[in-house]
Amino acid sequence: MQAWQQDGLSLADYERLVPLDKLELRMLLMHATGKSRIQLITHSDQSPTSTARTHLLSLIGRRLAGEPMAYILGEREFFGLSFVTSPAVLIPRADTELLVELALQHAPHNSSLLDMGTGSGAIAISIAHEREDLAVSAIDISTDALAIATQNATRLLPTNRQQPFQLLQSDWFSALGSQRFNTIVSNPPYIEQHDPHLSQGDLRFEPLSALTDHADGLSAYRHIVSTARQHLSADGWLLMEHGYDQADAVRALLLQHQYTEVQSWRDLAGIERVSGGKLQTED
Ligand code: GLN
Repeated sequence: MQAWQQDGLSLADYERLVPLDKLELRMLLMHATGKSRIQLITHSDQSPTSTARTHLLSLIGRRLAGEPMAYILGEREFFGLSFVTSPAVLIPRADTELLVELALQHAPHNSSLLDMGTGSGAIAISIAHEREDLAVSAIDISTDALAIATQNATRLLPTNRQQPFQLLQSDWFSALGSQRFNTIVSNPPYIEQHDPHLSQGDLRFEPLSALTDHADGLSAYRHIVSTARQHLSADGWLLMEHGYDQADAVRALLLQHQYTEVQSWRDLAGIERVSGGKLQTED
């Protein structure tokens, strides 16, 4: 038995004995006991109730086994909103806020936007939350992911939104018929199949199909860039998040398919994280 598994420990004892990051432990304590951050400090000499203790020990055990905080807590903050997360979806990442900001800048007033491979819905819902004038559609191939995205949309978007917000099951563009959109965004699976990161940290617990294309990491871009031409309106922007070393390759694909104003944008760490281009208007 570990020291932190003993009976009768106070909240302060857990903070002292559990070999986890202090901030993470505090979040687990708050989750298990229902106490606020302040109460944890002011009640630090108290012991959790036996129900709370059982819950706490299970949460600590899961975290020590490497399970991501976002799955243990069942939520993660993204773009100032709290998104439900489960192992059916990729955990929303702060890096991806750049894609949301760029979409907000590039989407014309009163236009339509499509998010490809929406997962938890973090990108599409953040955009829709910010811009009531946009008709937002989001697709995913996974029905389990769509169930999470639906929960998030219900929680976070007003029911009387000016413009429609729709979630659709689709293998990339296949269910979209001849629909066109003013803006298309995506954070597709982009990790190479043999990348060692797939078997490290949080990624071990995330859906493999949301992380890797099971190939060279670029196959989703090849498909999206070539097919998006049939689904973008004139002058529409295609904006895609990618891995830290993929900007050159993604720009090359956009140029090869005659997009204009092809460029990349850097994330807060200074890494080229999103690339995009505009569909050339036919003369
Ligand atoms: N950004 C994720 C990571 O490298 C990968 C997400 C993706 O493949 N779209 O951890």
